[in-house]
Amino acid sequence: MPLPTTNHQIRLAARPVGLPQASDWSHTTAPVTEPVEGGLLIKTLALSIDPAMRGWMNEGKSYIAPVGIGEVMRAGGVGQVIASRHPDYAVGDMVSAGLGVQEYLALAPSDIARSGLTKIDLRMGSLSQWLNVLGMPGMTGYFGLMDVGQPRAGETLVVSGAAGAVGQTVGQVAKIKGCRVVGIAGGQAKCDWVVQELGFDACIDYKASPSAVREGLKTHCPKGVDIYFDNVGGDILDTVLTRINRKARIVICGAISQYNNTTPVKGPANYLSLLVNRARMEGIVVFDYADRYAVGVAEMAGYLREGRMKSKEDIVIGLDQFPTTLLKLFQGENFGKLVLQVAEA
Ligand code: NAP
Repeated sequence: MPLPTTNHQIRLAARPVGLPQASDWSHTTAPVTEPVEGGLLIKTLALSIDPAMRGWMNEGKSYIAPVGIGEVMRAGGVGQVIASRHPDYAVGDMVSAGLGVQEYLALAPSDIARSGLTKIDLRMGSLSQWLNVLGMPGMTGYFGLMDVGQPRAGETLVVSGAAGAVGQTVGQVAKIKGCRVVGIAGGQAKCDWVVQELGFDACIDYKASPSAVREGLKTHCPKGVDIYFDNVGGDILDTVLTRINRKARIVICGAISQYNNTTPVKGPANYLSLLVNRARMEGIVVFDYADRYAVGVAEMAGYLREGRMKSKEDIVIGLDQFPTTLLKLFQGENFGKLVLQVAEA
């Protein structure tokens, strides 16, 4: 089959202030190039749309360099090898890699390690599950919970962003490990889903009233909170801090409530609760666990196979939908892992 000729791409045009605008992006085209010796050409099938993308658009020091102005927007994704001059990859192989918001990625040998290129096995899970529970968010939830949260049977775990990508993995793994699991999510539909479908013990709709989190924690965590897996930061983190137990572990995974701030990030006023309770708060970055992903994937795939774990993805179709799709995360409009489908396999 002849190779396609045109690669549609979305590039960062400007650094946003607050929520990203249409003018922060440019839609460009480039020729599709044949792979060089030792390289391969990947067709993007689906992209992972992540809250972290907002941080990558900012100037300044972080755990990863910012996306440069004029560069193709960074994105993890799953795709299919459509041309290969690499001995270990054949045409038709399904892979996951840092593909970028574009239809095709030509990987030179020198870029392969940095791209995180990995073969994926669709018998273990669907393409979209490879962006969810078997992919980066799943590994974040699993390793963040196991390494930093250190769950013990009988303990109470609270997770915010409960119906999202990371949250759904955290809550379900914590249940499997024997914890009482209380989610925090926006809206009754998300709360019903995590309780009725995923088996959480309770879920607090933080949008129900200004005191919903405080009252919900009192009702649903009668023995206090041993682990708080924080995906949102801000007021919810501050409120959970008032309910923690001695030696509690607070996993700082993300703070989506703060990512579009035009004022400084709001820190937790109640942090002295850590002192009183001899508790700790620790950040995690999923990429630190890259050499153990295979272990996490095998465990998650086992739970899926045994029917002990479910996953939900929210799929939007079309590369051009990227700018508006990203915004869904910050308005809580995604229900499950947000995926942008770019092409059919
Ligand atoms: P997600 O939960 O699937 O989607 C984001 C969700 O955040 C929204 O659906 C919304 O759910 C909630 N949200 C948005 N604005 C909020 C606000 N102001 N207050 C409270 N909740 C708000 O996203 P995800 O991919 O699983 O990521 C969850 C968190 O983990 C993010 O903070 C992300 O940056 C972080 N993360 C960290 C790592 C790492 O290595 N440290 C890796 C992956 C992800 P509701 O409808 O429930 O409000």
